[in-house]
Amino acid sequence: MSQQGALEYLSHGQTPFFRLPSAPMLELPPSARAAFLGVPSDAGTTYQPGARFAPFHVRRVSALVQGWHRGHRIDPFEASGAVDGGNIVFPPFDREAGRAAIERAVATVLRAGATPFLVGGDHSLTYPALRAVAGRHGPVALVHVDAHLDTSGPEVWGDAHHHGTPVRHAIEEGLVAPDRLWQVGIRGSWGTPSDGDVAGRHGGRIVDADELARRGPEDVAGEIRRVVGDGPLYLSFDVDAVDPAFAPGTGTPVPGGLAAREALALVRALAGVRLAGMDVVEVLPALDHADLTAHLAAHLLFEGLALAALRVKELETRAG
Ligand code: MN
Ligand code: MN
Repeated sequence: MSQQGALEYLSHGQTPFFRLPSAPMLELPPSARAAFLGVPSDAGTTYQPGARFAPFHVRRVSALVQGWHRGHRIDPFEASGAVDGGNIVFPPFDREAGRAAIERAVATVLRAGATPFLVGGDHSLTYPALRAVAGRHGPVALVHVDAHLDTSGPEVWGDAHHHGTPVRHAIEEGLVAPDRLWQVGIRGSWGTPSDGDVAGRHGGRIVDADELARRGPEDVAGEIRRVVGDGPLYLSFDVDAVDPAFAPGTGTPVPGGLAAREALALVRALAGVRLAGMDVVEVLPALDHADLTAHLAAHLLFEGLALAALRVKELETRAG
């Protein structure tokens, strides 16, 4: 399967992610080795809500993304047989039901042999997604690209589950392999000097926005590839890692972030990893300008899909 033609998707008036064929996530075709799933929920938001509308906007602008990846010399859509698996639905105000539905959907996609690509929604979706991914692959390496650590505890808001806590839960439940956590793009002010300790005690490595700028995304990705080797890796991309100048449409912006080019180059340079899943979260269309953030999200997903597609192609070559 591949993308629909430009006139084809216009003809029926719907824009699935990247003009891909739609397939309910419960009935993925055997050829689908990747599935995009929207998560229209922002019930875990602590400040500005609105990310629940991102899947619809990212679908719309992703129609502009074409099939050929020039850098990797691959058509990621064709090579992966990717489909739009629709949205994961639950009462949008019920976070517990949301966690259960997300974990179930991701597990279903993984069971069908496809790599899940989640389009948030707020960042709290990453915890249930990782539960499903670790349920299949065991503890994974986590590349968490974000301005924030997301290892907050219940003492801050009086609740253990919101978009500032997914990485803490993932660590505490053993979903992330020790010494296999990178937090890239971190910056801004912290609540306490020990904010980084939850991840630090787990062997997590912070590559802050300044370090990424100094070393370059290729060097950082090279370090990750060397350490992770052939182990499964989950990539969680909070768009607020990117500077608000490039990604204004997000709820908790922090100045001094990645350039859009650095963000895309980081994902591109991970080529060769075994991608177990990916999410792009925290796009907030109502605060976006000229769809800048939605376009960036679509291109980050394109780069991520290319990683999965390279892997599919490599395994096919090996199998002869
Ligand atoms: Mn963030
Ligand atoms: Mn986050």
